[in-house]
Amino acid sequence: MPAHFYQRIADELSDIEDAGLWKPERVLTSMQGATVSVAGHPCDAINLCGNNYLGLASDPRIVEASIAATRHWGAGLASVRFICGTQEIHKELEASIADYVGFEEAILFAAAFDANAAVFEPLLGEDDAIVSDSLNHASIIDGVRLCKARRLRFANGDMDQLEQNLRQAREGGARTILIATDGVFSMDGAIANLSVITDLAEKYDALVMVDDCHATGFLGEKGRGSAAFCGVEGRIDILTGTFGKALGGAMGGFVAARREVVSLLRQRARPYLFSNALAPSVCGAALQAIGIAASAEGDALRERLFANTSRFRRRMEQAGFSLLPGQHPIIPVIVHDAARAQAFAAALLQEGVFVTGFSYPVVPKGQARIRTQMSAGHSPEQVDTGIAAFRKIGKALEIVS
Ligand SMILES: *Cc1c(COP(=O)(O)O)cnc(C)c1O
Repeated sequence: MPAHFYQRIADELSDIEDAGLWKPERVLTSMQGATVSVAGHPCDAINLCGNNYLGLASDPRIVEASIAATRHWGAGLASVRFICGTQEIHKELEASIADYVGFEEAILFAAAFDANAAVFEPLLGEDDAIVSDSLNHASIIDGVRLCKARRLRFANGDMDQLEQNLRQAREGGARTILIATDGVFSMDGAIANLSVITDLAEKYDALVMVDDCHATGFLGEKGRGSAAFCGVEGRIDILTGTFGKALGGAMGGFVAARREVVSLLRQRARPYLFSNALAPSVCGAALQAIGIAASAEGDALRERLFANTSRFRRRMEQAGFSLLPGQHPIIPVIVHDAARAQAFAAALLQEGVFVTGFSYPVVPKGQARIRTQMSAGHSPEQVDTGIAAFRKIGKALEIVS
């Protein structure tokens, strides 16, 4: 047992703690929801940091669908898809999500992280180029690293630099160029400018790949995502997404694309070929969630979600907080200093509001924040209670006057 190794790991842990960058895991003693109970805290807290945008994570219909799928199809497959791990429910979920987001076909992964890790390497090689937004999710960055294509990067949302990258890739003789972007940037709540991105893609004969994890289920018409929001449906080549956020919150990811792309991923994508099939419970929950999201009830949930979003935004701005601008239910409250963000979150929990401080390396240094997220599950009164707690603690910590 080489002691120097364990000493180095211990030193690194101390460094993280000393810098105020430690991410504690607080334990819930309840289901996920608009309110949660937190171990060690006597009262329930309003939850303002879940990705549970439609409030479906503990909806009894979703829970029941999950249990029913387990009863009917078993606990799991103990197999990858191509050996003996494909059931009708997997095919049903692939068809359902493809239809919902408006693509020919979809392929399931254990998580959107895997979908992003899987999607680039089989489709692009050393003759190709990937043009990537600098704020793309870690899983896109990892997926791009696993692929031999040339990499170009543009500053977040900088469409001039994107065009420079595209020109550079074309002049460099790239066979295929793919633009990769989050549909919504998760730390900022900024929505990608897909209208300009798809125009530039057309001009330079490039493909567009969008990761819609923070959009599928609630953004745009019928919650079909950021392309619907930006009015560019049908102009995206490859979409990746998750069932672990708005669509029930269980887990699981997917890639949606044209038939031939999905077929090649089934043959070549390593996280698909070498990893267990999704558990039936997860498929059952996701199918039920898509059904709700696509229905008139989904429209009502989205209306509540965005009413809560504009209410929180407006009143927090009036209270003097520094928010990142936008329309998305991700509403970051900027406090700059990492230790202060942690103190803010801890004090808010004492006031019955559950939020998380985000600091480096999840966001750039000096831009620590409380990332709040609204849900259709919140009542307007709960939103107001949250705001009142922010004001009280914000004043105490001299973040607002
Ligand atoms: C959450 C998220 C992921 C990962 O999704 P999982 O299904 O939890 O692996 C990928 N990309 C983005 C943009 C995300 O926000």
